Amino acid sequence: MIDMSGLYTHADYPAALNRFNTSNNRKKWSKFKDVHLSVTNHKCPICECSLRVDELLSRPSGRVVEEDENTDAESKHTIGSTVDHYRPQTFYDFLALTPKNYILMCSECNNIYKGCEFPLFGTSPVRAQILAEVTNELPLIVNPINDNLLDLFQLVVRRDSSGRKVLELSPKHTQGYLYEKALTTIKLFCLGDCELNAHSNPNVKKLRISLLHSHFVKFDAFIDAYIDKNIPKMRAEIADKNLKDYGFFKFILKNQFKNLM
Ligand SMILES: [Zn+2]
Repeated sequence: MIDMSGLYTHADYPAALNRFNTSNNRKKWSKFKDVHLSVTNHKCPICECSLRVDELLSRPSGRVVEEDENTDAESKHTIGSTVDHYRPQTFYDFLALTPKNYILMCSECNNIYKGCEFPLFGTSPVRAQILAEVTNELPLIVNPINDNLLDLFQLVVRRDSSGRKVLELSPKHTQGYLYEKALTTIKLFCLGDCELNAHSNPNVKKLRISLLHSHFVKFDAFIDAYIDKNIPKMRAEIADKNLKDYGFFKFILKNQFKNLM
């Protein structure tokens, strides 16, 4: 997950805010897309897939496709970038045009995983009805703009049930609000325990687990070099694979990872 805490102080934010304020478009929150993409190094802040136009992922859309089936004729769903509401309009219509309620995600995280979900912490939480009540809520979905990600997650390197190596998130804490928030986010977006938390659509599931595997491949040699304290090898891996662009990088440097293989 990618830290977006620099968003509101980014040099391009005031111009984006001005374009938003002067637009009459009904979906004018898209005016913030470029500055959000700049802060996340053109990645989804949640699943860290690339949102560069020439690197977009895709998966078969529509019906379930068997492993050995020829998929050439299948229509493809391309995973693009979206700016949408952190607190969904379904429950928070009064925040529909509030810039600090917008968040960049890939279309898969936004539309397929998050949707209109917005769970709150507590046995009988009270949902805000007006702006002044929002700060009373304890959301269970992480907001990478406001939350301290290093106090919520750690990285896990493991093999999934089919033996495939994946790089995942797990909660840093073992109980309490931060634990529940990290766990709910991981389950909702399938960022950890990927076989258990995978989406019921096999095409969506396959794409997410492949992404977690590709993250492992990206960081495999760097993690080995980090454990071996091989500084030249670490530097080479960082440069070769642009590892500083990933949120995972900060977790490894903070030694917040577990190798379960
Ligand atoms: Zn995503």
